[in-house]
Amino acid sequence: MQTLGTETAFEVLAKAKALEKLGKDIVHLEIGEPDFDTPKNIKEAAVKALNAGYTHYGPSAGIPELRETIAQYISKTRGIKADPDEVVVTPGAKPIMFFSILALVNPGEEVLYPNPGFPIYESVVNFVGAKPVPIPLKEENDFRLDPEYVEEKITKKTKMIILNSPENPTGGVLTRDDLKAIADCVADRDDVFVLSDEIYSRIIYEGTHESIASLSGMKEKTIILDGFSKTYAMTGWRLGYGVMRKDLAQKVAQLQTNSNSCTCTFTQMAGIEALKGSQAEPERMDAEFKKRREVIVSGLNNIKGITCKKPRGAFYVFPNITGTGMDCRKLSDHLLYNAGVAVLPGTSFGKYGEGYLRLSFANSIENIKKALDRISKAVEKR
Ligand code: PLP
Repeated sequence: MQTLGTETAFEVLAKAKALEKLGKDIVHLEIGEPDFDTPKNIKEAAVKALNAGYTHYGPSAGIPELRETIAQYISKTRGIKADPDEVVVTPGAKPIMFFSILALVNPGEEVLYPNPGFPIYESVVNFVGAKPVPIPLKEENDFRLDPEYVEEKITKKTKMIILNSPENPTGGVLTRDDLKAIADCVADRDDVFVLSDEIYSRIIYEGTHESIASLSGMKEKTIILDGFSKTYAMTGWRLGYGVMRKDLAQKVAQLQTNSNSCTCTFTQMAGIEALKGSQAEPERMDAEFKKRREVIVSGLNNIKGITCKKPRGAFYVFPNITGTGMDCRKLSDHLLYNAGVAVLPGTSFGKYGEGYLRLSFANSIENIKKALDRISKAVEKR
């Protein structure tokens, strides 16, 4: 258990909640979940499914109608031919990370992953006894993973490359050229898999989402991870999926049989409605995120010692705080305890996150403005 990591967001949330219990007013910019409610049509579909008896076990890989719907959705949005047999539905998308790493990566092998990046990648790679090899994401490269690093770090022991676009925590988005260059690095390596975390594929502000799976020869090597948590504001429902070659999908489903048995069945029926029903609500949420992005980026750039690039996707900003003279942990504690603003230190996402904070803008414009005002005063008063 000593090799297993965690997600600091939950720890900061606990600290912030403890302060609230003492009567402090806290603005929450630490948590990565949409503040919107799940769209009504999706909730109604779940109620209908409950009343129709979807209250029992289902197949480990997921209900066939949902697997079919996901296969159609992925085929359309990624420009590939995905088959229902290649889909595994899981309680949230996170188990796809856990299961695919568990299924594919052996002790002593190496996994390349973005740093700063979602902390669970490094945690699970360590847990299976493999070696996590960080690929630094640089601000001067708009936090896009640089294919040159991939080429430099790839060895005979490399078993997997993890990609995340749009990226948490930086908002970086990989271009088709980036993906082509990464695909070239593994063109002659049938033993290397790509775990492509595309959970923020629909929350994108400039350009369009591209999946490495759509490049020539890459579909068989790629595990697409996606889900409903972020796009449809369904974090608490726990509904996600992976799309991967059929033999691997069977193994991942077997891991599911050994752990969760299956994903909650009435939730899965709601997932069908999410993908097939009206997309007006997710579009409205995205438009709102776009407005908030403008407010938070310009507000942060007006604070002395802080500079902030515009994220191209997801709902996080990753401002550079080196001009404040504080390290990221000190500053995040200062903001929590002295200003009532909960944010995450960049190092919660790996060592290359030093010098940055992560702020989620999944909060109202009113609260974002309140937080900016408090941060500005707290940084200048120090
Ligand atoms: N991947 C990334 C990059 C995330 O930020 C998150 C959640 O924060 C997930 C995956 C997990 O999503 P889910 O809630 O569907 O398990």
